[in-house]
Amino acid sequence: MRTVTVSESGVSAAYEVHTFGSGAPHITFTAGIHGNEVSGIYVAQQLIAFFTQNAPLRGTVKIIPTVNATAMRCMQRRSPFDKEDLNRIFPGNAAGSLSHRLAASIYAETADADILVDLHCCGQHGLPYILSIYSESEKARKLVEKITMPIAVHSEGTPGQLFTESCRKRNQAACIIELPSGAGSGTVNLPVAEQCYAGLMDMLRTEGVVAGKIEGAAPQFYGTLKDAEAPEGGLWRPEVKKGDQVKAGAKIGTVDGAAVYAPEDGMVMSILPCAYIFPDDLSVMVYIQPEKKA
Ligand SMILES: [Zn+2]
Repeated sequence: MRTVTVSESGVSAAYEVHTFGSGAPHITFTAGIHGNEVSGIYVAQQLIAFFTQNAPLRGTVKIIPTVNATAMRCMQRRSPFDKEDLNRIFPGNAAGSLSHRLAASIYAETADADILVDLHCCGQHGLPYILSIYSESEKARKLVEKITMPIAVHSEGTPGQLFTESCRKRNQAACIIELPSGAGSGTVNLPVAEQCYAGLMDMLRTEGVVAGKIEGAAPQFYGTLKDAEAPEGGLWRPEVKKGDQVKAGAKIGTVDGAAVYAPEDGMVMSILPCAYIFPDDLSVMVYIQPEKKA
């Protein structure tokens, strides 16, 4: 294990790099780019524990389990020093503020990756998914096919993210995995973390890095995440569950007793529990639709 430290104006950010094996393929896992996304950090730690006991059969596995350790210590998404969202500023700037320097350092540390999987967390109430720009990057699509989790979502492709920059600027096979967080700050969602770990182990088996038979199935590909809003504020009560298929016009819940309808056909990715909602945030459901083949 190596520790890499970057500093600016007398403050430092440090991260651990755990490397196992040697040679090609180079497979890299990152987690904790957003400091409060601890289910991803947990999965990275499980991978470190595995490779500490079992050397890769071929290639190099590099794991950076807590990229943004100061943000993790504060249990927040962004850097406590410069308030930057680290996953919007890649490839970073070695002469910039601390987060920009950290991004530049991580970008250099991941430059040799053939495969790059970046572990994150989405909201507490959703389903886990793989996120990639699979329509832009055939390499990314092939990587996603090897990770045996059920749902692969198309990313909006926002620049400045480690995976989008790595796909576009370095032609690497890169993706994100989004895991629902646990029930409170710092808590791990163990069932989805274990599902993710199993999906990654299958990918590593396909690459010949880990022994054993593939246990899971390739994911189904979907389009981008879509958001359904209630027409007005009030007391929201859901009537569908995550994973449900809904038809356009189907009742998905009520606000103050008035029905709220699904805008389109789709599968429910996350649904807000019973809650008071207000006009500044009427979002109640996130849904996806199967990939539209050309
Ligand atoms: Zn994140």
